[in-house]
Amino acid sequence: HTPRTGLNWQRAQALAASERASYMARNPVSAGLAQQAGEHMLFGVPMHWMNDWSTPFALTVAEANGARFRDADGHEYTDFCLGDTGAMFGHAPPAVAQATARQSARGYTAMLPSEDAAPVAAELARRFGLPYWQFALSASDANRFVLRWLRAATGRSKILVFNGCYHGTVDDVFVDLVDGVATQRDSLLGQVYSLTEQTVVVEFNDLAALEAALAKGDVACVLAEPVMTNIGMVLPQPGYWEAAQEIIRRHGSLLVIDETHTISSGPGGYARAHGIAADALVVGKPVGGGIPCAVYGMTAALAVRVEQAKRTAPAGHSGVGTTLSANMFAMAAMRANLEQVMTPAAYDYMFALAAQLADGLRGVIARHGLPWCVTQVGARTEFQFCPVPPVNGTQAQAILDSELEHIIHLYLLNRGLLITPFHNMLLVCPSTTGDDVQRLVAAFGECVQALL
Ligand code: PMP
Repeated sequence: HTPRTGLNWQRAQALAASERASYMARNPVSAGLAQQAGEHMLFGVPMHWMNDWSTPFALTVAEANGARFRDADGHEYTDFCLGDTGAMFGHAPPAVAQATARQSARGYTAMLPSEDAAPVAAELARRFGLPYWQFALSASDANRFVLRWLRAATGRSKILVFNGCYHGTVDDVFVDLVDGVATQRDSLLGQVYSLTEQTVVVEFNDLAALEAALAKGDVACVLAEPVMTNIGMVLPQPGYWEAAQEIIRRHGSLLVIDETHTISSGPGGYARAHGIAADALVVGKPVGGGIPCAVYGMTAALAVRVEQAKRTAPAGHSGVGTTLSANMFAMAAMRANLEQVMTPAAYDYMFALAAQLADGLRGVIARHGLPWCVTQVGARTEFQFCPVPPVNGTQAQAILDSELEHIIHLYLLNRGLLITPFHNMLLVCPSTTGDDVQRLVAAFGECVQALL
């Protein structure tokens, strides 16, 4: 079995060519802006990976609202990418827009807490069941700071991650299993010291490997998404987390759950919904409604160790910080978003719609007899090019096919439907409608038909 099993690859390549031509013809304004951008930006884009989408040149956004956005050429799109989770609750949710408009006349950043800070931390504690919180500007930073705190608190140097994980631009986690051997990810730029010395990597859903890796007692923490979402999607097998938590605890390691994507599972994330008791927890991206910020929380027991580590260290730079973290503007956005947007009612609506979407995609796949599957984590749906969902990073990696993804993504984009690049993720938000979902499913069906 390969991702292309059951497809007519010659037809697929012809479709790719015609969709690229159609994109170029449809988007003269984006084309002009892309050309202009080439004069003063590396690779002609503000972030190099913006060139890795399916499009021949970057699509320029003019305006985004709710589940929709308009491009520079005036085409309207329904957005199932939603900023790869950053806009999980829709673009510019009114409550966040109003709160940030209000705050924008009252200052942005002062190196001091604003009046929103205490209520935000209290709401995080209530929602996630962890009493102590700190703030950062991105989930990458939050993860980095948590690793630093936990290494300091435990006096252990190593961390453990799962093969195929992604937790942002955190140096420590870019270690993969290659033929069973921990290997530094070769795509990393400018990495001048070895990451495999302090990072242990095992396959997800492999309890024996976890047990063996923690047995030496030198691992400060396991950093994990409760469901792997960055290599396609890999669900935990039944009972996995229960047993894994027991192993982690028995070896004196701590469990850090990164809910940045799996916050799609409910107001308190996947861990709360599934009874995983993390020692520390990270949420980034959507927590401020798309305004850059992130949060991390911890248990009372861990907070004691963390505060002790700081108190007993010499005064000076801690390596945990950044000047604009917890700024007034982001804090206002988080307060509005947590109190008024990320509500149980919003989640209930998103879950129902995501179920409809997953069913629709499954229907298309079944109708055409394709060996593909659909996996769902709350509001997040992923279709994958294999008949049975993968159980670990190695299996998930083997069924990624960026060429095939590009064809499907560009086909949908040319029909006003945006899905997440680099795998096949579709997110619904409180402004997505049943009609949007039906249009997506119909276009997906037509695309599949054209690939056979
Ligand atoms: N954690 C997870 C699970 C992520 O998927 C990502 C980004 N995709 C991050 C952390 C990092 O987020 P950011 O790029 O906003 O720092």
